[in-house]
Parts: sequence; C-alpha cells; structure tokens
Amino acid sequence: MFESLSDRLSGVFDRLTKQGALSEDDVKTALREVRVALLEADVSLPVARDFIKKVQEAATGQAVTKSVTPGQQVVKIVHDALVDVLTGEGEPGALKIDSPPAPILMVGLQGGGKTTTTAKLAKRLKEKDGKRVLMASLDIYRPAAMDQLAVLGTQVGVDTLPIVKGQKPADIAKRAKQQATMGGYDVYMLDTAGRLHIDEVLMGEVEEVSKIVDPRETLLVVDGLTGQVAVEVAQEFDDKVGISGVVLTRMDGDGRGGAALSMRAVTGKPIKFVGLGEKMDALETFEPDRIAGRILG
Ligand code: GDP
Repeated sequence: MFESLSDRLSGVFDRLTKQGALSEDDVKTALREVRVALLEADVSLPVARDFIKKVQEAATGQAVTKSVTPGQQVVKIVHDALVDVLTGEGEPGALKIDSPPAPILMVGLQGGGKTTTTAKLAKRLKEKDGKRVLMASLDIYRPAAMDQLAVLGTQVGVDTLPIVKGQKPADIAKRAKQQATMGGYDVYMLDTAGRLHIDEVLMGEVEEVSKIVDPRETLLVVDGLTGQVAVEVAQEFDDKVGISGVVLTRMDGDGRGGAALSMRAVTGKPIKFVGLGEKMDALETFEPDRIAGRILG
C-alpha cells in the first residue's frame, strides 16, 4: 500500500527547522512529495505539474498556524486546491431533466460500466427523485447487452423499451422517444453501444442518435481505474458528440482516484457520479472532498 502523504510530509518537516512562515524551500520540499503522491494516484504528469505550481503560489509565505505542523498545513493547502479543481459547476449529481420526457444519452467504451450505470441511475432517479423512467438499449451488436438491460430493469423496477430485432439504433431511439412521450415518462435513458476502441462508426451512430433525441444530458461512463485512458476517451467523446458530464466507475477498486483530477483539469466537465460496486445501489454523487482525501491518502 502507499504511504500516506501526511506521514511523508511530517517526516520531511521534522528535518526542517521551524519558522514563522512557510519558506519557499519548505514548500518546494513538501511539494516534491505531493507530486510523487499525485503520480502514484495516477494523475497525469502535466496535470500534476500545473497543480503543483498553483499550490506553490498559494502556499509560499503563508503564516504557519500554531495549532498545526507545517506538514499538516501544506496538506491542508493541497487538499483545498484539489477540492477546488475537482468541483464542477452546479449542484453535484444534479441532472437537467425538467420538461418531460427528458432524454439522457449514456455513452462510453465497452466494459466501462455503461449498462450497469444506466440501470443504477434509473433506479436512483425513480427512488430519490420520484421520476418515471424508461430505459432503452441501442446496442444492436451485442444482443446480450439488450437482454442485460432488460434483466436489470426488472431487478430495479424500471421499464425497458421492448426489444424489436433488426432495428437500427436511430430507429430504436425514435421508438423510445415516442414511447416515453405517449407513456407519460419523465425521463428516457438511451444506453448506446460501446466498442473496445473509439471508431468512426461508433461516433457516427452516437451523433445521429444525439441529433434525433436532443439529449438534456450526455453522460460519459468511464472506468476510473484506467487513469489517463479515461481522460483521452472523455476528450474524444466530447470533441465528437459533446458530453455534459462524466460518471467514473470502479471507484471501489484499489486505485487512488487520480483520474478524477486529470479528468476535471483536462476536460473541465463535471464528474456527476461515481460507481462504487456492481450492485444496483452502488452509485453515489461525486464528492470532491472525498476524492481529494483519497488522492492524498
Ligand atoms: P458496458 O459494456 O460499458 O455496458 O459495461 P457493463 O455495465 O456491462 O459493466 C461491465 C462490468 O463492470 C460488469 O461486470 C459490471 O458489474 C462491472 N461494473 C460496473 N460498474 C462498476 C463499479 O462501479 N464497480 C465495480 N466493481 N464493477 C462495476
């Protein structure tokens, strides 16, 4: 396991003489440790560098508070700066789903947790927000994916659009829109097909569906353990189809969550939710404070 940053910094500062204010050298020494911690937490190098620069400016010259050690003080400064970067605009976890039926487009690579997250989010919207939700799978390439969504729908008590074999994603999207309107649903969620890698066909398909339904939210579901890859995927999806937010899955794993920082710093998109397991209630609102604590260890 990783040594916690607070422990490391205490070690560093034990060797430094105590002064009235954090000197530039104190801060530099501490920030070297912070940089290592960030890289170990899978934050990308350019993001870590920029971040450190920002913290260095904030920390240098700060008076050392009597009640805490310089090490603790730097950790606090770093923690606050992390929270600052991680915090997106608006209420965490809020979705623009007024004016029913509001379409939510779920996009991402195969295996990232898209179908699972679609069902988890539908359950949450139903139970927490009292919404009537309809889910539809547009994954015509893997019939198992359509069945998987139907099974999850039954499990969480959310309707799924009946499967009609041979339809194209655009036709399924139109049918979902129609059914959602006629059936008086508040929200309809479209679980798009994923691929192992981003390709033109996939993007073209998502673009077409997006034009048809004009989604209120386009949520990218991406594996939080894939670090830099997750950030690249987000950038590509955002360039091609535009995303309104990100769901980071597998945040229950061993990773330290650095992808969240890179994601925010590079894409500027809000991280709305985190997936914390395979169960249907393992979806939580993204909390910058918690992830900051985890990155620092
Ligand atoms: P899709 O191909 O993107 O639709 O991915 P799936 O929804 O089928 O998920 C792939 C696997 O990841 C399944 O076994 C899920 O149970 C699992 N999974 C999804 N989200 C999470 C999560 O937040 N934590 C963990 N541990 N597993 C997850």
